Amino acid sequence: MNISITKTTSPKKKPTDETQLGFGKVFSDHMFIMEYDTGKGWHSPQIKEYSDISLSPAAMVFHYGQEIFEGLKVYRTPEDKIMLFRAEENFKRLNSSAERSVIPAINIDDALFALNELIKIDKDWVPKSEGTSLYIRPFIIAVDSFLGVKPSDKYYFIIITSPSGAYYSTGLNPVGIAVEERYVRAVKGGMGFAKAGGNYAASMLGQQEAHAQNYEQVLWLDGIERKYIEEVGAMNVFFVINGEIVTPELSGSILPGITRMSAIELCRKWNMKVTERKLSVDEVFDAFDSGALTEAFGTGTAAVISPIGVLKKGERVIKINNGQIGEISQKLYDALTGIQFGKIRDDMGWTKVVV
Ligand SMILES: *Cc1c(COP(=O)(O)O)cnc(C)c1O
Repeated sequence: MNISITKTTSPKKKPTDETQLGFGKVFSDHMFIMEYDTGKGWHSPQIKEYSDISLSPAAMVFHYGQEIFEGLKVYRTPEDKIMLFRAEENFKRLNSSAERSVIPAINIDDALFALNELIKIDKDWVPKSEGTSLYIRPFIIAVDSFLGVKPSDKYYFIIITSPSGAYYSTGLNPVGIAVEERYVRAVKGGMGFAKAGGNYAASMLGQQEAHAQNYEQVLWLDGIERKYIEEVGAMNVFFVINGEIVTPELSGSILPGITRMSAIELCRKWNMKVTERKLSVDEVFDAFDSGALTEAFGTGTAAVISPIGVLKKGERVIKINNGQIGEISQKLYDALTGIQFGKIRDDMGWTKVVV
């Protein structure tokens, strides 16, 4: 792929205080953008100054929500190398989301090449402090100016990047979760397995009501029986019951997380028993009552591992592992972040040096 590169003539000042980075507020100097037109395919790949884009008010993304995205990070190693973690998996998932949304697929090698070029140009935007990284947001939007309901004939594939702060500044922090009994995020046959903006729109009201009760996230149940556990907020979820690590099986309404997949592969490498199966919320509460439930945690790119300290369902509130971080949660967190930041050897072949 031949990318046209135009570097900015007015580089921005980089954040000096990396403890104040937070998440998703600051953007690097450049972005990647490529266009698609029916009959022409993907064309005109460019890296240029990060800037606003201009769209018709009739652009289809505003009306019918044809939008998909990805989220991944690049990490700076102690040797000052910059590394990607399983980025090809993100672009594979982008294509799976694309197929479900009738968005044209991208070429994965081209997307990886473009991402590598963009990171090289903005490599000084990868922050240096412990636990920080450069967050990468690839996305595709339907931009045809047309109000009829049909798949768009024109799309933009864009990659922007944002330096982000350490998720945990004081070590792993267990969160409180409320079982969501009123709303569902996705149903089988819908778009739950796709990383699509619309799924997030569907999740916000439940999230807001949980926040109002001082719970950080909601535990989503299946949309049909309202019985089986699906995800926690925008993370996949794991429970340790009688020493067995259980996570809901990918049923079509669950997002196939790359951190989820990596956690499963690591646990199996460590000869731990991991089972992907249906898991009802009643089974989890019963396991708590019998003392069999020892840990619960969420997995996702942002937090990596998010231990669940408190779980609420209706009037019932339980404290898992006394609200403390579990052994497996801590071990997975240390291994995954160790590999990502190049602090331990990557036996799994998951990381690639960009520059
Ligand atoms: C992105 C996402 C996840 C986590 O996926 P990772 O690839 O591990 O970051 C889980 N659930 C939802 C709904 C998501 O959007």
